[in-house]
Amino acid sequence: MFGSKICPCPFRRAELLELPPLREVIARHGLSASKALGQNFLFDEQLLARIAAIPGDLAGKAVLEVGPGPGGLTRALLRAGARVTAIEMDRRCLPALAELADAFPGQLRIIEGDALKLDHYAVMGEPFAVLSNLPYNVGTALFVRWLSGPKGHENDWPPQWTSLTLMFQQEVAQRIAATPGNSAYGRLAVLAQWRSTAKLALKVHRSAFTPPPKVMSAIVHVEPSSMPEGVSAPMLERVTEAAFGQRRKMLRQSLKGLPGALAALDRLKIDPQRRAETLDVAEFVAVARELS
Ligand code: SAM
Repeated sequence: MFGSKICPCPFRRAELLELPPLREVIARHGLSASKALGQNFLFDEQLLARIAAIPGDLAGKAVLEVGPGPGGLTRALLRAGARVTAIEMDRRCLPALAELADAFPGQLRIIEGDALKLDHYAVMGEPFAVLSNLPYNVGTALFVRWLSGPKGHENDWPPQWTSLTLMFQQEVAQRIAATPGNSAYGRLAVLAQWRSTAKLALKVHRSAFTPPPKVMSAIVHVEPSSMPEGVSAPMLERVTEAAFGQRRKMLRQSLKGLPGALAALDRLKIDPQRRAETLDVAEFVAVARELS
């Protein structure tokens, strides 16, 4: 099915493998993009290779890819030497993915299913990097889940994932990497930054997708850092929810309903007349620590 160049030089076989163009794969398997499944495919193999390179060297590493579709990013990950587990809910894509599994023996495991319903930690069973170009609503839901840690184990950190490299609508990517004082700064930024580093890794023009979405996209790269001591993750979530729930209000108003919060501000010498968007991540962490 796939041709491979025979070459005596000591390069990895996968790097030499000639795969059919993605457009041909799509046409051969009749994979017209489904709007309901949020399908916007990437065909530019140079761009896909750049995305696969964002987390660094993936050779031999376990990677979880959610939503491989026809396998554009998947082939870039396989060429980088990753051991990929790919979860896809559109069964029309499975034959195209099976061809990739044949071309990279032992490197690709395909799971048909809804990534929102699967326990990724049980599926992977070892530390893993996550790379994904997902529909935006699914991407945000999974992102929040990964950052919050497994249910009932929110304070176990670092998590089993070693990095998250995810495509988002540019506006959401900006909210994730935002800093205080910026109108994009809010709960998502604090969640992404209090025990991880989050950066905008790559902007992707809408014309790179087929069909092109209405808005621009960007890739966010997140790596876990150390967990601040003495803070409970659910408590930090309660503080940011209250503070940003009324982001235009002063803290003395927005945190009024959270027992002990105003006294905590006083002890920390944080002016209760400030608004949530002026507090940096360390200040939110300090308030949550006082209340934990
Ligand atoms: N990775 C491919 C690419 O970059 O060209 C496809 C990206 S497309 C934006 C998103 C993919 O996610 C589609 O193949 C879609 O079927 C799949 N998908 C959507 N929701 C999903 C879910 N809940 N679980 C698993 N896959 C999902």
